[in-house]
Amino acid sequence: MIVPRGFSNQDVGVFGLARTGISAARALVAGGATVYAWDDGEAARRAVRELGARVLAMESWPWDRLAALILSPGVPLTHPAPHAVVDMAHAHAVPVIGDMELFAREMLAAAAEGSAAPVIAVTGTNGKSTTTALIGHILSGCGYAAEIGGNIGKPVLDLNPPGLRSAYVLEVSSYQIGLSPGLKPEAAVLTNISPDHLDRHGSMENYAAVKARLLEQTSRAGTVCIGIDDTYSAAIHSRFAAQNGPEAIPISVGKVLGRGVFVIDGILYDAQASNAARIMDLRAAAHLPGAHNWQNAALAYAATRGLVPNRQAIADAIANFPGLPHRIEEVGRIGKVRFINDSKATNADAAERALQCFTDVFWIAGGRAKEGGIESLRPLFPRIRKAYLIGEAAEEFARTLKDVPHELCGTLAKAVTAAAHDAESSKAASPVVLLSPACASFDQFRDYEQRGDAFRALVQQLSANPVREAS
Ligand code: ADP
Repeated sequence: MIVPRGFSNQDVGVFGLARTGISAARALVAGGATVYAWDDGEAARRAVRELGARVLAMESWPWDRLAALILSPGVPLTHPAPHAVVDMAHAHAVPVIGDMELFAREMLAAAAEGSAAPVIAVTGTNGKSTTTALIGHILSGCGYAAEIGGNIGKPVLDLNPPGLRSAYVLEVSSYQIGLSPGLKPEAAVLTNISPDHLDRHGSMENYAAVKARLLEQTSRAGTVCIGIDDTYSAAIHSRFAAQNGPEAIPISVGKVLGRGVFVIDGILYDAQASNAARIMDLRAAAHLPGAHNWQNAALAYAATRGLVPNRQAIADAIANFPGLPHRIEEVGRIGKVRFINDSKATNADAAERALQCFTDVFWIAGGRAKEGGIESLRPLFPRIRKAYLIGEAAEEFARTLKDVPHELCGTLAKAVTAAAHDAESSKAASPVVLLSPACASFDQFRDYEQRGDAFRALVQQLSANPVREAS
């Protein structure tokens, strides 16, 4: 645990007690603060009480004495409207911050005591988790004690305090950026920007501005690595390239850059010096399939280059990255059929990336549909040998698929059995049973992880008993 020492003997409010709120309350209590906490959920309140916090409705907090309000990133700070607790804090001139700000202040204190550790922060609309995990994997493989957390895995204050060769790799959501003005990473990564969560940011301009703030906070001696293949990120890169701040490294998949890191036909190049050096063939990285993952790999390469002088060591680590669960994850093989779990694909955009990776697809899709359904996937329909539709969206998807062979399966179990059977008996040389639902999971599962785990378990059952007929 990283213990925030700056609030010892002070009163602090913690509002919103999901993962990060609980973590912040625990760390603050350990640091000697008196913590006032609240969450609408009874179980969360019980948990935080056991940690030694005082559970009180926010109206009863000693606002005149509070040194800070630690806000959960899930509670609106600005859009669509500030939560009442934020208004209350403003009315009493109490600073509103998040758990990452507590981490950042502790890092500053540690640096002043001579135990500085580099921080790499990753944000963007898509690819954050993959890029964060990949950077952590590279650093771990190259002699660092990489601590990976934030929006992925552990909350930051649950990570180990800085020690010998420590490096922190943090996934930072836009909500967390707004709550962490003191986070000054040595390297910041902006993967890409596309419309997402506009309800919580008001406008695309505001959303892009929040993302850019993390780069603005980057240490002047550090680097900002920016995927420039969308217009918002490209504009942000131009601004940083023209400015006398941290080194701005542009990253592209598909464009040759005079200076920067880029990927052409799967080959990763580094053009930082006078000419472009060929670094590696990303097609050899089995768990980073698809152009979107090439962008993630190129970003991770650029972000670690400053810490790892040996380019080959970075390339080797990228090649043997094991991948993340639920993102185009191979979970089994029966005969010639590969089973791919892409349960994280909760919208059509994400499913598109997976469909692009395969040609003979026995596609399991459906769940709770997002607006627009799967209309945008039409150009990829020729890759679909047959679709197996589940959940609430099944009939809508069936209408869109029309002449593409499909079957209404209802449940994931039925879909897996039917798809496996058809894939096995098809003429395709390397058929793929792909769960890439293009839907939220909430109609049948707790979350996308439970859906992906169920798929994996069904595939394991099938491998143990492969000669089952489709029901
Ligand atoms: P995030 O943490 O930002 O949600 P993930 O790494 O978990 O991103 O990837 C989630 C999904 O987003 C993947 O299944 C894939 O469909 C898509 N994706 C991943 N990386 C990228 C990228 N660089 N560009 C566009 N889409 C991506």
